Amino acid sequence: MRGGIDLGGTKIQAVVVDDDNDVRGEARVPTPTTGGPKDVADAMAGALGQAADGASAKPDALTGIGVGSPGDVDGKAGTVTSARNLPDWEGSFPLAAELTKRLGPRVALGNDVQVATDAESLLGAGRPYASLLGVFWGTGVGGGIILDGKPWVGRGAAAEIGHVVVKRNGARCTCGRKGCMEAYAGRGSMEIRARNRHKNGTKTDLFKIMEDRGRDRLTSGVWQRALDKGDSLATELIDEAIEALGAGVASTQNVLDVEAIIIGGGLGIRLGEPYAKRILDAMLPHLFVDTDPPAVRVAELGDLGGAIGASLLVKS
Ligand SMILES: [Zn+2]
Repeated sequence: MRGGIDLGGTKIQAVVVDDDNDVRGEARVPTPTTGGPKDVADAMAGALGQAADGASAKPDALTGIGVGSPGDVDGKAGTVTSARNLPDWEGSFPLAAELTKRLGPRVALGNDVQVATDAESLLGAGRPYASLLGVFWGTGVGGGIILDGKPWVGRGAAAEIGHVVVKRNGARCTCGRKGCMEAYAGRGSMEIRARNRHKNGTKTDLFKIMEDRGRDRLTSGVWQRALDKGDSLATELIDEAIEALGAGVASTQNVLDVEAIIIGGGLGIRLGEPYAKRILDAMLPHLFVDTDPPAVRVAELGDLGGAIGASLLVKS
C-alpha cells in the first residue's frame, strides 16, 4: 500500500491506496492557519496516520508516501519554497525529510495541481484522452497539462492558467498583477469582491449562510447554497467567474488544442456538470475552431483526486 497527501490551502487530504489504486483509508484535516511549516508537517503526518488507521495499516509499513504541494516544489531536493497560502512558508523547507522523520517511509514531492491532473488522466475523467488540460477551480485557479500521455511542466512553471490575462489592466490579482483569470474566478478573489460589495450595502445572504454553517470563509458549499437560493450577488459573481473561465480556458485551448478539459477544484467539483456546460458555452465565443470544441468533463475522483495523484508519485 502507498500513501498520498494533498496539501491544500484550507484542507489537508490523505489517502492510503492499494496496488489497484483503490482508496483503503482516507482523512481530511484543516490546514493550520498559524505557526509555520513544521506545524503543517505535523498536521500532514496526523492526516496520513488517520488514513492508515482506516486502512488498518501502520504508516511505516507503506511502500512510500507521495505529497502534492503548492509553492515551488523541488522533487529532487525534497523541498518546498514560497508556499504563500500556507503559514510563514516564504523560505525553503525540507518537507520530504520532515515527513519521513515523522512517518517512516520515503516521501516523494510533486506539484499539487499536476498530480491531480495525472490522477484524472490515469484513473479519472481523462482516461479516454491522450491530451488534456486540467482546470482546478478553487481558492485560485490551477492548471495541469497532459500532452500525448505525458505531463508537460515546461521549465517547472507551466500551466499557470489562473494567470492568463482575461482583461488588460483589469482587477488586481492575488499574484500582484492585473486582469488575471484568477482575479475574477478564484474563490479567494470572489470572496474579497463579495465582502466589499456587502460592506458597501449590496444585499446578499452569502455571509449569513457562512455563519449558519460555522465557517469563517466563503467555502464552495456556501457559494452553492447561495446560488440554489437565487442570491443575486452570488449569481452575479459566479456569472462573472464563468465568463472569465470561458475566455481564459478558450485562449489556452487555442494554443494547446487538447482533446479534453477536465474541470476540478473545490468549486468545479461542487457545482458539477451544469457549470461545466456553462464554462463550455462561455468558451465558444473565444474558440478559434468553434465547430470542434474539446470535451469538457468534471473531474471524476472528487476531492480526493489530489491525494490519489500524490500516491502515484511513489510508483514512478
Ligand atoms: Zn495573477
